[in-house]
Amino acid sequence: MSTNSAAMTPAYDRNNIFAKILRGEAPCAKVYEDEYALAFKDIYPKAKVHVLAIPKGEYVSLTDFSQSAPPDMISGFWRAVTRVAEQLGVAGGYRIGSNVGPGGGQVVFHFHVHILSGPRQ
Ligand code: AMP
Repeated sequence: MSTNSAAMTPAYDRNNIFAKILRGEAPCAKVYEDEYALAFKDIYPKAKVHVLAIPKGEYVSLTDFSQSAPPDMISGFWRAVTRVAEQLGVAGGYRIGSNVGPGGGQVVFHFHVHILSGPRQ
């Protein structure tokens, strides 16, 4: 994996599984989609509700997204996250998280947010 020395963010790999899902080359259990984001169920749920929201753009991590994405993408993505929670019926109680980099436990290098609600499994 090459490195962008300016931001210390690895280069985006278009073969990552979420890129394939975005291109329709891999399946997902879709729960929400708009022009900025796609959300689908995590294949290994860690709570009763466990959905991943990803932006429709090539961003490696939250750091990369925050530093590189245009303002309309940043606002549109976070608005989509709250809409996902509404659509899932958990807007009254949920938590979000994002693993950044190998040291943060990130294993899929397309920025994504975990949306979880209910008891941990
Ligand atoms: P992390 O990069 O640490 O946030 O973890 C990636 C998350 O993506 C894990 O919770 C996996 O269960 C989930 N995951 C990996 N592949 C898929 C897939 N094809 N569809 C849905 N979720 C996935």
